[in-house]
Amino acid sequence: MTSAPFLLTIGGEGMAADGAFPVIDPATGEPFETAPDASEAHLDLAVAAARAAFLSWRQVDAAARRAAMRAFADAIRAETEALAALLTREQGKPLTAARREVAVAADRIEGTAALDIGGGYLREGPQGPVRLDYVPMGVVGVIAPWNAPLILAMQMVAQALAAGNAVVVKPSPFTPLATLRLGEIAARALPAGLVNTLSGGDALGRWMTTHPGIDKIAFIGSTATGKKVMASAAATLKRVSLELGGNDAAIVLDDVDVAAIVPRLFTSAFVNSGQLCMAVKRVYAQAAIADALAEALAAEARRMRLGNGLEADIDLGPVQNRPQFDKVLAILQDARARGGRILAGGGALDRPGYFIAPTIVTGLAEGARLVDEEQFGPVLPILTVDTEEEAVARANATRFGLGASVWSGDQARAEAVARQLEAGTVWINGHGGATPDLPFGGFKESGIGRGMGVAGLRSYAEIRVVHGARA
Ligand code: NAD
Repeated sequence: MTSAPFLLTIGGEGMAADGAFPVIDPATGEPFETAPDASEAHLDLAVAAARAAFLSWRQVDAAARRAAMRAFADAIRAETEALAALLTREQGKPLTAARREVAVAADRIEGTAALDIGGGYLREGPQGPVRLDYVPMGVVGVIAPWNAPLILAMQMVAQALAAGNAVVVKPSPFTPLATLRLGEIAARALPAGLVNTLSGGDALGRWMTTHPGIDKIAFIGSTATGKKVMASAAATLKRVSLELGGNDAAIVLDDVDVAAIVPRLFTSAFVNSGQLCMAVKRVYAQAAIADALAEALAAEARRMRLGNGLEADIDLGPVQNRPQFDKVLAILQDARARGGRILAGGGALDRPGYFIAPTIVTGLAEGARLVDEEQFGPVLPILTVDTEEEAVARANATRFGLGASVWSGDQARAEAVARQLEAGTVWINGHGGATPDLPFGGFKESGIGRGMGVAGLRSYAEIRVVHGARA
């Protein structure tokens, strides 16, 4: 990979824009690059290029599509070091995590390509056999967030391509650069115009949601923006997939071995500095073990080494951007004002960049922002409950429903609790993790539809029922 300027990729060609916007390194708070600011005219060009590519790609059979997608995944793997360094610079995560992100992004493409969308013979009808076809939609607009920009953009791209569509991809304005490089790689590895990448501000996302040439919006981001996307897409009845925010509860029952679960539970909450849709965001611990659990989590928090993701031997990087940094600190301020006890951390580090010390808070209840909202940062509340019933009721008392977990030494007890949780994914004695073969998404305001798995793949296709089918 070169250190060439960052360009839009449209129809397989790099294209400059008139405007540019700064990209900030969250470890310093300073701009280090600029990204092209795509105009509405660029969007028109990208949609036209995608439409043209779609008309050929939809004729390509499943085996050839799979091979092309595998070649794309391999081309990404071949650029791991350069992509990871860029991702760390713009996103803030430690280099080891950035390398993992590149690997997972490639795996999502390959794993999705391996899925079988299904369809085929249903039954006999008056005209003869009835067959169900999954038919590609056309052009999919992919809108991604900043927390795991490569994985999340590529999982949506992979599903769109595997179902026979072409895409126009818009990364978050906070993390556009590595995705632009993926657009260049796609232009080399795949037919021209199949994957077009445009960087720009939120306005570009709005234009995509109203563009008459886009058939579906695949969106991963916040619940607030997801609602705007859905409202805007209604004007053209675009299909939408919305994978939105979460406020995942971990329920820790009183029969756990606290020391044994703490490293896993801590990582599930603080990985990527808490900026993960499926991070643990609330812990409900039974009274008998609540204090010991909170203390052990606090000890873990104090052990964390924070720093610039490019430095060796760091555990956590900064919060990704200034608005999120300010939001997490305001949530922490509210927790203090409501009598929250800070066992570890408690504020920003005295250094440039958006660093917040990993923070454990006890003594809060519902009504505190840290409990009710998605903090999306390195601050975790530990709440005490008496019974399993209370834990379930409080875990479910939210408009979110992405993930949840139950931690217990007793499998039957854990499963009984798990069955009552209103969440798209429930883990027992673990929390977090998604793979291309399993549907992932949320109940309630955590989203509409599912991404990944065969269910996810099918949401990138229309259903056509053919009566009198012979093949
Ligand atoms: P965000 O909603 O602020 O932005 C997401 C994307 O939407 C960005 O590319 C942004 O430019 C674009 N956008 C903004 N306004 C728009 C509009 N009106 N129309 C169209 N596009 C618009 O989200 P974020 O802060 O980047 O990401 C963090 C959020 O994403 C968290 O809530 C997190 O839980 C969620 N998330 C969910 C999943 C999941 O799988 N459910 C995965 C990762 C992140």
